[in-house]
Amino acid sequence: MSNNLKFNCYDESNKGEGVLVIYTGGTIGSMPKDREDKSSPQVVISWSEFKKNTPQLSEKTLGFNVDAYTTQPLDSCNIGPKEWQEIAKVIAESYNKYFGFVLLHGTDTMVYTASALSFMLRNLGKPVILTGAQVSHTFNVWNDSLMNMIGALNIANPKYTEIPIIPEVCIFFNGNLFRGNRTHKKDASSFYAYESPNYPKLAEYGESIVVHKKTIREIPKGDFYLKSSMNTHVVSVFFFPGIQDSKVLENILSIPDLKGVVFLAYGAGNIPTQKNIMDLVKKTADKRIICFIVTQTGGGQTVLGMYDTSAKLIDAGAISGVDILPETALVKLMHILGDEDIKYEDAILDAQKSIAGEMSLSIYPSFVENKGKISGEHKRERIGGFTINNIGNSPETIDRVILRLKNGSVETGSLDHLLISIYRGLSSEDELNKANFVGTFRQIEIKEKTVLFYDITKNIRSVISNGRESFTVVLENDEGQIEWDGMELVIFIKE
Ligand code: ASP
Repeated sequence: MSNNLKFNCYDESNKGEGVLVIYTGGTIGSMPKDREDKSSPQVVISWSEFKKNTPQLSEKTLGFNVDAYTTQPLDSCNIGPKEWQEIAKVIAESYNKYFGFVLLHGTDTMVYTASALSFMLRNLGKPVILTGAQVSHTFNVWNDSLMNMIGALNIANPKYTEIPIIPEVCIFFNGNLFRGNRTHKKDASSFYAYESPNYPKLAEYGESIVVHKKTIREIPKGDFYLKSSMNTHVVSVFFFPGIQDSKVLENILSIPDLKGVVFLAYGAGNIPTQKNIMDLVKKTADKRIICFIVTQTGGGQTVLGMYDTSAKLIDAGAISGVDILPETALVKLMHILGDEDIKYEDAILDAQKSIAGEMSLSIYPSFVENKGKISGEHKRERIGGFTINNIGNSPETIDRVILRLKNGSVETGSLDHLLISIYRGLSSEDELNKANFVGTFRQIEIKEKTVLFYDITKNIRSVISNGRESFTVVLENDEGQIEWDGMELVIFIKE
């Protein structure tokens, strides 16, 4: 490497038009340590050396100008929040000068950087495309770097290529354009290194660029701004058979100053129900540490309450990440907790909302703390005071509405099950009629306290609206009883 290198700066030859390339290193910008020995370990090279080896970057070849900014070139394993902030700042500084931005980056942590930028660059109205390579053109004729880089540059310049503006942080790799915060590195050597298991591709680039318009975000109406503070007092825990018999979880959860944990649970968000594990989760949430549940499967979504093994997590105070990917979930917690003044209650709500399309549903819970009981003697309980302020104009955006009785227990007496009817509004006896009927649900005996769920979507979707909402629950039987500690109305809104 030459020794007169300047890093963390804009190129002197910049013209201030076209696309800004931010060069960070990675395989795309690597060469063997011993240039004569191709098998010696690869090390990152400077932007000037990269440029010398990449004549394709000229305006004459590309058809438009490419300016550059260089960070300290790094293998992406060494990139973290400090570099994310530097990159975000560069994009913000140059936002008005370019049609788009391309980040040349190592593949190993590309999805983390893409997620971080997607949260930091608020009201983004221009393409920010991350790309890299498994094999660099700098010393290989057979490579994927030129195709990836030139593709990314063309997508980042909609003015030149005449494609729709894609106002998102994306990853372009092997002809596919993915939403960055939905992407996962799935292969350490294939050119098909990334996938987006829970969200469709935004575009494909073969002979020409085909943008899947329905999948891309709308250009925001508000002004672009930066929100880049990060808090690294977070951790991910990957559940494995045997964790319940060890001290691993206890030790991790007692890390001083911990503020958030991503639990990579089994399947749809299940973890061992052994008392020691559930108690640890509860103790962690009680310490006001965010317990964010995602699936470790690599695809699909977390549905807390689908199994008994996840229902208990709700009472313990954990929250669902729906279909957010684990890498993105961790960065999201760093980002939300980056706001030093944020209250735990607000951070919990923010984590459950989609910020930049990183999850398919936003969850809006509204909690009323009153204890309640319905029984043969006292058949009716009214629960008021839910505040709703997140429903758009169209009922179709409502995916599910769930009423949860927290820490509930059920005694059925001599019956096999109870029937519980739910009405909308604080109804008096004679108002419990068809017009505000929400549903009747079966309820079997439940001795150990747990969360009780009632899916009220069907009858509520078209009538529920922003404002105050209340319900009346009625026991239809003359015996048995249902008790609970608090009630939660949870609305799932489609992204
Ligand atoms: N270790 C390299 C990096 O992430 C791998 C790559 O770029 O493909 O920087």
